[in-house]
Amino acid sequence: TPILCAHLAPPLCSSDPILGFFINSELSLLQKKIQDETLKNEIKDTLEELSEYKKYLLIDIKDLSESDGYNSWRKNEITELSTLVQQRFRNLQNPVDCDNARKLICNINKGCGFGCQIHHLVYCFLVAYGTKRTLILKSKGWRYQKDGWESVFQPLSNTCLSANGQTHSNWPGDENTQVVILPIVDNVFPKPIFQPPSVPSDLAERLRKVHNYPLVWWIGQVLKYLMRPTIETKMLLSEKEEKMKFTKPIVGVHVRRTDKVGTEAAFHDVDEYMFKVEEYFNNLKNPPEKRRIYLASDDPKVIITARQRYPNYEIIADTDIAQTASIARRYSNLSLQGIIMDIHFLSLCDHIVCTFSSQVCRVAYELMQTYSIDASNKFTSLDDIYYYGGQNPNPQIVIYNHVPRKKGEIELKFSDKIEVYGNHWNGYSKGRNLRTGVVGLFPSYKVVNVVKAVDFPKYD
Ligand code: GDP
Repeated sequence: TPILCAHLAPPLCSSDPILGFFINSELSLLQKKIQDETLKNEIKDTLEELSEYKKYLLIDIKDLSESDGYNSWRKNEITELSTLVQQRFRNLQNPVDCDNARKLICNINKGCGFGCQIHHLVYCFLVAYGTKRTLILKSKGWRYQKDGWESVFQPLSNTCLSANGQTHSNWPGDENTQVVILPIVDNVFPKPIFQPPSVPSDLAERLRKVHNYPLVWWIGQVLKYLMRPTIETKMLLSEKEEKMKFTKPIVGVHVRRTDKVGTEAAFHDVDEYMFKVEEYFNNLKNPPEKRRIYLASDDPKVIITARQRYPNYEIIADTDIAQTASIARRYSNLSLQGIIMDIHFLSLCDHIVCTFSSQVCRVAYELMQTYSIDASNKFTSLDDIYYYGGQNPNPQIVIYNHVPRKKGEIELKFSDKIEVYGNHWNGYSKGRNLRTGVVGLFPSYKVVNVVKAVDFPKYD
């Protein structure tokens, strides 16, 4: 089991085993190089057969994990862990004496989009939790909704929303400073040890046994607390759910376009996303008769194109939402409703196909973890591996030696630390070996993600 976990472990791979990526990519390259038609067809047949092998291998692995007799234990354990941390968050956020409580101030108005601002808020919350301070959120004049956070989400506290105190200081302050003001992650110094990829050590041991990517689970729990909807938002979401007939099985597809393309991410055609959706459905033990996707985008043309090209699919999407999300109309109440809805429905899907370069998709993926025991493999990213913007260094660790075979590959030695730049989703990743300083390609399965367990306050 540990070996299997290592091979499937994110962030270097998604639901696909790396072996599948590798063989598929190598054979496809070979197929393109050769002229002989008979040979070409033989490779095509082999590729088809391979995809069936892969399908049943994945089904077996899934069945195995569900029939090993520990599933109900895993379910209880993850529920208990969630109950525990939510209780701690409530305690921290609801001090009995607000006038004398130690506080951390965070302003939501970082100059970026909703996903980025939410991640900024998560970072503030983690620092508050790590320093045992109640988080006070400043959100009046929010670029998405001038009335602030409480117009769509529940307040972060029922007892303490005031930033007042006897002593104030900028980060880091000291133990006795009552109110500390935290800057955005880009400017924070010294860097708080509590920001990602740190996971509280008193949870990490238990988490490792039930979740393949504890960091994402941990962030998901913070989001669960922060993004508790008001009654109005809740009603809006359930009305929408009914109206759209949002039902499972369903794959969430997030296509990020407009201002992102060409600046922070490359363009990916709708077909690239749908190819992965198709693959997901084909790999199910019993593929549904009706294939359904929830499609979210900041470009309404994406929805029109998908409906034209994929008439056999049931495509749940709202072009009006996409319209308000486009760069020209962003930062209004309507666009706020739209992005909350899209993230909510993406997170409820059975699998997400997106680009992890987008914070919108990463928030949905993090929230997804709060709905099942372990949803860490339920994604396909067309570009980046999962990361947390502004995170402290998070090198991967080499578990198998590697002697370079082709030009561009790097040497790996057991226990080397690798700063991973990206996954090429073909069996190889690119990164820098921190021991040798050399940058290059290496087989993705030869490194693993390690949980960075850090001592946070105990919250007895
Ligand atoms: P990133 O730029 O994609 O990494 O994410 P940000 O959240 O920082 O900024 C993107 C902003 O574009 C979001 O906050 C939304 O306002 C808007 N947006 C992007 N994609 C979507 C989408 O699928 N649906 C909606 N409603 N808005 C989106």
